[in-house]
Amino acid sequence: MPDHPPALVLFTHDLRLEDQPALAAAAAEGGPVVPLFVLDEETPGAWRLGGAARWWLHHSLAALADDLARRGAPLVLRRGALAATALEVARETGARVIHAGRAVEPWLRDALARLAERAAREGMKVRLHETRFLIDPAALRTGAGGVYGVFTPFSRAAFAALAGLPPPAPAPERLRALTPSPPSLALSALDLLPRKPDWVGGLRATWEAGERAAQARLAAFRPKLPRYHRLRDLPAEEGTSRLSPHLHWGEISPRTVWHAALAEAGAAGEGARKFLTELLWREFAAYLLWHHPDLPERPWRAEFVHFPWASDPALMRAWARGRTGIPLVDAAMRALWREGWLHNRLRMIAASFLVKHLLIPWQEGEAWFWDTLVDADLASNAASWQWVAGSGADAAPYFRIFNPVLQGRKFDPAGGFIRRFVPELARLPDDHIHAPWEAPPLVLAEAGVRLGATYPYPVVDLAQGRARALAAYAALRGSEGREGAGRG
Ligand code: FAD
Repeated sequence: MPDHPPALVLFTHDLRLEDQPALAAAAAEGGPVVPLFVLDEETPGAWRLGGAARWWLHHSLAALADDLARRGAPLVLRRGALAATALEVARETGARVIHAGRAVEPWLRDALARLAERAAREGMKVRLHETRFLIDPAALRTGAGGVYGVFTPFSRAAFAALAGLPPPAPAPERLRALTPSPPSLALSALDLLPRKPDWVGGLRATWEAGERAAQARLAAFRPKLPRYHRLRDLPAEEGTSRLSPHLHWGEISPRTVWHAALAEAGAAGEGARKFLTELLWREFAAYLLWHHPDLPERPWRAEFVHFPWASDPALMRAWARGRTGIPLVDAAMRALWREGWLHNRLRMIAASFLVKHLLIPWQEGEAWFWDTLVDADLASNAASWQWVAGSGADAAPYFRIFNPVLQGRKFDPAGGFIRRFVPELARLPDDHIHAPWEAPPLVLAEAGVRLGATYPYPVVDLAQGRARALAAYAALRGSEGREGAGRG
């Protein structure tokens, strides 16, 4: 009997072995398995990988290559346009089927569609599997057959659809390798790590990439689930899972995370249920991007095209570098720079300050986050920036403007987070650390703070910034009345 031809597995955002349906399907064919990763720096255009994501990817690929080698099938690394390169490897190896995960990113969807089309012309097949998400965006529809634009009904429908979600599948024990293995680039040839200067020290100290690290993080988080709903808003506590980069790169399957939380939902009650709902925000963002491919660039609510945002390079730089003079915003932005990650509440506060108090276009903040987050995710980043800006699906109403001082007093009352990332303010008493410009001169002097010298004055008066934002919004409402509502 003739042997089975090899099957190609094209890894994208599913860099794991457990519960990896594309890998499982390739292994199930019975022939050799050729695992492939293609670094495509051209096709994504403006959305090619940011700096922090490149660092993560390097280490994630190293871990995946190790794990695959241990099961018998070495990872093949290539560079180039995704469709053409995958096809090339399929031809080289004689593979008849290419297995890959389904995508939501417009560039990746197009590339996979191109690959399927070209493969078909050569008598090969591309099979897409659900490797990244719990919900199939094409399948989940409103009662009337429409697309959900509001989270609560989406999540209700999603919870119902997930009632019988099968448990995660184990990793294949052995993989049959193709001999000889097709040529592969060395990982270092992908050039993912920064050259000089080495700005990734904070990332190195904070994170470990790869499937085993992801599983360990989930295991460490599980005992915290019962308190998740109470601690998740406090940046100085480690109350959230920090699974976002692992989920983004697919080092852990969302099914694994879902089932782990579900198993605790009885005992952990409200905490676990809240966590499951947060996982659905990730699904909602992917769903929105799938249905609205221009979400990263254009406001979901069309009337926001007319919003009077104004670029301001000096203010943008002050924000990005954590030099706005607003302590909680600065602590957040410095933490992001150092660790490549930010607590959700701080993402909201920093983003709101940029688009509301400074009136800078949300796309500029989105681009900065894209470059600096290890979990930079086209769908979640775009949907969240639009949520904060008020232009998104089910967005925060524009007039609800976070006051970063009050937010700080509520969610970081002792200023622990600020003291950690803005050390020049560390000696201020709790009462004054959130608004040093209001502190009496003696208090500042005792803490060694000289405003305008050791720490900046606020780049904007918070009350004036808020009034300006509300006026801009009122003008938009006027034009909306004239021009009609957006996409709705
Ligand atoms: P947990 O609280 O432990 O939640 C578990 C998981 O649920 C997360 O890992 C994440 O996958 C998902 N999740 C939780 N909250 C959200 C949310 N609001 N939207 C989407 N998914 C969510 N998340 C990203 O993964 N990548 C991004 O690029 C990104 N950009 C953001 C930009 C802004 C302006 C804002 C306000 C939020 C952004 N988020 C993004 C969402 C959220 O802040 C992070 O997912 C969360 O902080 C990750 O921390 P965690 O893993 O500890 O979350």
